[in-house]
Amino acid sequence: MSASDATQDPHLVAGRTCGDCNACCVALTIDDPDLRKPEGYRCRNARRDNSCAIYATRPQTCRTFYCGWRRLKWVREPLRPDRSGVLIRLHGEVSRTDGSRRLGVMISLLTRAALKAEGLAETVAAAVAAGAPVYLHIPGPPGYTGGTARINEAVAEAVGRRDKAAVLRILRGLHAEGRKGDFRPVVFEGTEHDKCRSP
Ligand code: SF4
Ligand code: SF4
Repeated sequence: MSASDATQDPHLVAGRTCGDCNACCVALTIDDPDLRKPEGYRCRNARRDNSCAIYATRPQTCRTFYCGWRRLKWVREPLRPDRSGVLIRLHGEVSRTDGSRRLGVMISLLTRAALKAEGLAETVAAAVAAGAPVYLHIPGPPGYTGGTARINEAVAEAVGRRDKAAVLRILRGLHAEGRKGDFRPVVFEGTEHDKCRSP
């Protein structure tokens, strides 16, 4: 999404660039006045080489979005989304008890191979150990919402024991459950979305 790294945002992790990744141009639902696209569809502006055909005038959503791999130092280096199949993004959580907001992460497993990505268990463990809300997201078919579940409680004990194999076993189980999810079509208010290409 951020095809050019010519102007490096100081809030981004030094040394990490999008390169030819454009996972977010496929995986995200974009509901911007200039572009409406449901998740799972490759944006119609994505070129064959994954660059953006309208980069200079791309929608605001695309200008401001950076994934967790770009933003968060503790997200392990091998987890660049196009190489790992793991897309991490910032995700807010509202407390049911006092309504306060906390910032956490949502970890999307874009492919089955994502479960074997180097650094996945360590990254999940780092987030959970730091007390951040962590959500696992299993994408649905293109154009449908995926399944999302908070996983802190499920992996807390394994993280506490530093048991990487157990963390991965739990993630595999949650992934299998999530794939059975109740996926629903992405619907945009008031207007039809742009035509998109399949991934
Ligand atoms: S998913 Fe992350 S690394 Fe890939 S293009 Fe988007 S912001 Fe860049
Ligand atoms: S307009 Fe499309 S191809 Fe360009 S950055 Fe946004 S999502 Fe990616």
